[in-house]
Amino acid sequence: MASSEWDAVLARSLAELDERGLLRRLRPFEGVGPRLRAADGRELLDLCSNDYLGLAGHPALAEAAARAARERGTGATASRLIVGDDPEYERLEARLAEHEGTEAALVLGSGYAANVGVVAALAGRGDAIFSDELNHASIIDGCRLSRADVHRYRHGDVEHLVEQLRGSGAARKLIVTESVFSMDGDVAPLGELVELAGRHGAALLLDEAHAAGVFGPHGEGLARELGVADRVDLHLGTFSKAFGVYGAYVAGRADWIRFLQNRCRSLVYSTALPPPVIGAAAAALELVREAGDARAALRRKAARFRARLCELGVDTCGSTTQIVPLLVGEPGDAVRLSGQLEERGILCIAIRPPTVPPGTARLRFSLMATHDDADLERALDAIADAAG
Ligand code: PMP
Repeated sequence: MASSEWDAVLARSLAELDERGLLRRLRPFEGVGPRLRAADGRELLDLCSNDYLGLAGHPALAEAAARAARERGTGATASRLIVGDDPEYERLEARLAEHEGTEAALVLGSGYAANVGVVAALAGRGDAIFSDELNHASIIDGCRLSRADVHRYRHGDVEHLVEQLRGSGAARKLIVTESVFSMDGDVAPLGELVELAGRHGAALLLDEAHAAGVFGPHGEGLARELGVADRVDLHLGTFSKAFGVYGAYVAGRADWIRFLQNRCRSLVYSTALPPPVIGAAAAALELVREAGDARAALRRKAARFRARLCELGVDTCGSTTQIVPLLVGEPGDAVRLSGQLEERGILCIAIRPPTVPPGTARLRFSLMATHDDADLERALDAIADAAG
């Protein structure tokens, strides 16, 4: 049993978070977007999930999951390298490789597990990782686990990256970046990054978590949209956002995928995703590929939403995508603004440090293809009243 010192330290830490406006609380919501029901029964318009195409509630995915559960059970029973693999996995990976235009693909437990496992498998002591300073926590954790020398370059700053690449004597260099940044909704300079990676012999790992399903003619991601997909070594995407399911994938050359099958610890030492998740992910991939109209609707809605926020004089952090932040600054102010919107039926949970840098607490609005235009106008009016 822990000494009372433990209780005291944890209580102090919680009190301190509370004082700084940084305490987080779990809050259940019923239903699946864009309308959610809070515990007090009120219906709220969801403007902060990652269900960009509205697939999380799609009946075809529920049916695919249910069928897989009936036929193959609810648990994979072991890691994929023991008996957790099944033919559906192989089919899904072959289809993903085709989708991404790569030789091979590998499904992993989650985006978090994928980044932590892949970054730490690829780079080790003596190697150098170059990581955008706004990369997601899972990339940061992968960098830490790798024990490589980590260089954080200023957000999207190619000149800073060049300086760091030139200054590094490491034989093996890895550049890692998100394509669409999760909290800012801006995009990485992919054209320049593939160029630089080529010039310096560096590997490029691209986290397309918020671009998969949203960009590219069939939702392949931003690299495909910009015509640079062939120059990216590893594409990483998640099934947890636009695909409306859970899990993740990496796609690339066959030997890289075989290497990861052997060395990615979050694959080797963790139970495979359950059959219903694989079944739903496979069904989602087909829906995503055909979702061109939804992608166009999402873009249109996001452009309108962003333009209205800009008219209000709001700092939208350089957003050009379906993720549209409203920069506030201090955590308490962001929480207050979120509360005011909630009173008007709009749900957008405040994003605070350490998820974003100190002094940049914000509301991170995220659009869905299934948002009703009239609902969005209502939300914009509420935002104008509260933030104007
Ligand atoms: N990468 C990025 C850029 C993310 O934003 C997230 C999740 N927010 C992840 C990876 C982790 O993905 P998952 O939620 O599937 O674990």
